[in-house]
Amino acid sequence: MTTTRWLAEYAWLPEHAEPTPDVLIEVEDGRITAVTPLLGAHGPDAGVEVYADSVALPGLTLPGLANVHSHAFHRALRGRTHGGRGDFWTWRDQMYGVADRLDPDTYLALARAVYAEMALAGVTCVGEFHYLHHRPGGGAYDDPNEMGAALVEAAAHAGIRLTLLDTCYLTSTVDGQALTGPQRRFGDGDATRWAQRAEAFQPTDSHVRVGAAVHSVRAVPADQLSTVAEWAGQRQAPLHVHLSEQPAENDECRAVHGRSPTGLLAEHGVLGPNTTAVHTTHPTSADLTVLADSGTGVCLCPTTERDLADGIGPARLMADAGIRLSLGSDSHAVVDLFEEARAVELDERLRTRRRGHFTPVDLVTAAGSAGHAALGWADAGRIAVGERADLVTVRLDSARTAGVPPVGAFFAASAADVTQVVVDGRLVVAEGRHLRVDVAAELSAAIEAVTLS
Ligand SMILES: [Zn+2]
Repeated sequence: MTTTRWLAEYAWLPEHAEPTPDVLIEVEDGRITAVTPLLGAHGPDAGVEVYADSVALPGLTLPGLANVHSHAFHRALRGRTHGGRGDFWTWRDQMYGVADRLDPDTYLALARAVYAEMALAGVTCVGEFHYLHHRPGGGAYDDPNEMGAALVEAAAHAGIRLTLLDTCYLTSTVDGQALTGPQRRFGDGDATRWAQRAEAFQPTDSHVRVGAAVHSVRAVPADQLSTVAEWAGQRQAPLHVHLSEQPAENDECRAVHGRSPTGLLAEHGVLGPNTTAVHTTHPTSADLTVLADSGTGVCLCPTTERDLADGIGPARLMADAGIRLSLGSDSHAVVDLFEEARAVELDERLRTRRRGHFTPVDLVTAAGSAGHAALGWADAGRIAVGERADLVTVRLDSARTAGVPPVGAFFAASAADVTQVVVDGRLVVAEGRHLRVDVAAELSAAIEAVTLS
């Protein structure tokens, strides 16, 4: 077995309030086998050998970052929806236009480029909230999971792990209106047929896990929620759901069901320790209690929430209630987990006009171990013995990060400062370049293929 030895100028170790200097990280067969802080450990009696073959990692080395909520194809809309006014709902119509033009080949090309962009940003694992299941109009492909298979292949090419969250999407409104137009390809008819299709998809690749998702209370009728929840529960699989992104969703849910979306999901068994609620921008205080008591986590997507004028989720209240927070770039208006992480703190500052709501280690945890756990990879997101060897190195000598103490990296660095990314022990990004994908060129070509202007 070959041992790879990395010598990090600084590494952010679990539970440490700030990065540790001079850390030797040893990796064997994709796992971290030793983590040794060297400072003060040199000298004949220290018992620590500094190997000649260790590879220096200048800058700050972080655990792998998890992008918990992604719709890969939304990347094609970046910069194209800013011409006029409008809100989430007008943006959604433009998004449907792209959805209508994708097929397995163009989906693979676009997702491969988007996942490679994520790798460049230090993302080692992505949760894809996947509902583009069928042909335009709703007919099945010869392999009904061909679109999901394209995502699995895309992640393999990009060198990152994937949790494919197979999304149940059946109706267009809380009161059960049928899917129309571009939405028709999202639907399986009913939750039982969704479960049959999901069951048939069993990729064996080691970089992928399959989980489930309820698109939202708009898209799955109340009496079918438990079918999705039970499918995930039987497999101990992650279960994700868009929750209270919009006040209109709350109002409609109360009008139709007499309770909040959180209340409805709780009643039908959707909440629990394996469940992640995405957004949760407009919960009531009673909702937060229900989420916390059930062990449900919340994935915040601050750059999308700001882009779509959704509002600011009550992150500090959630954390105070004991809710685990994770992060996602969702619509990919921005793919930068540093930006998502600091937005959790900065948005609270704007709301409260006070500073200091989250510590740097809170942000590292949300982007790292909490995110990986929300995607079903409990053994990732920490630089510790036995964990998956995911290492993300950020330079501290760029125009953005020069002079910044390592502990301040999450408030200064951008995705462009990531110089090296190791996923499961394999080098994916070196010197700021993806080793397999020409990311900018592939993004450009893939987006041109699916957009009209
Ligand atoms: Zn989403």
